[in-house]
Amino acid sequence: MAEVKLKLADEAATVKLGERLSELLVPLCRTRAQAINILLYGELGAGKTTFSRGFIQRYYQGLVKSPTYTLVEPYACGDFALYHFDLYRLSDPEEFEYLGVRDYFAQPGCCLIEWPDKAGEFLPEADVILEFSYAHVARQVVLKSNLLSQQQLNELSELSDML
Ligand code: ADP
Ligand code: MG
Repeated sequence: MAEVKLKLADEAATVKLGERLSELLVPLCRTRAQAINILLYGELGAGKTTFSRGFIQRYYQGLVKSPTYTLVEPYACGDFALYHFDLYRLSDPEEFEYLGVRDYFAQPGCCLIEWPDKAGEFLPEADVILEFSYAHVARQVVLKSNLLSQQQLNELSELSDML
């Protein structure tokens, strides 16, 4: 699995990483029958929603809302769809089944999932994993994927240099 660790100096860098990954993954997701699952780990405030906003805004010209209370926000983008999950308020993994989101994973698109652990055994298989953490006032992220090459991930390192 390709892997890279990036330093994100400020909020703009986190948004930029979202945009860059969107540019890499959206062309790919159009060619696949199943959605690309992007699992976002990290404690509260680590940057998961900020990243997701950048990812969605790259191809969606509209208001990006927070899924904090709705658990999932859909974004129709023509021939693909983006789904932004925030499972923080999921009280039981079973609830994930009751959301009726199975179809979201079985069509071309990307599913961004904050707090993926909350889905327990129903957790969709990961195509991309991002682990956000605090680095003093900035953030750091470890990115892992089988869908992208090591070179593609290494090229993202220039984001670390925007300090
Ligand atoms: P999460 O969804 O992981 O709980 P959010 O993205 O909602 O986190 O919040 C992250 C907070 O940290 C926001 O206030 C955002 O402005 C800030 N932030 C995001 N990325 C960075 C960064 N690279 N450096 C410093 N602050 C950041
Ligand atoms: Mg969040």
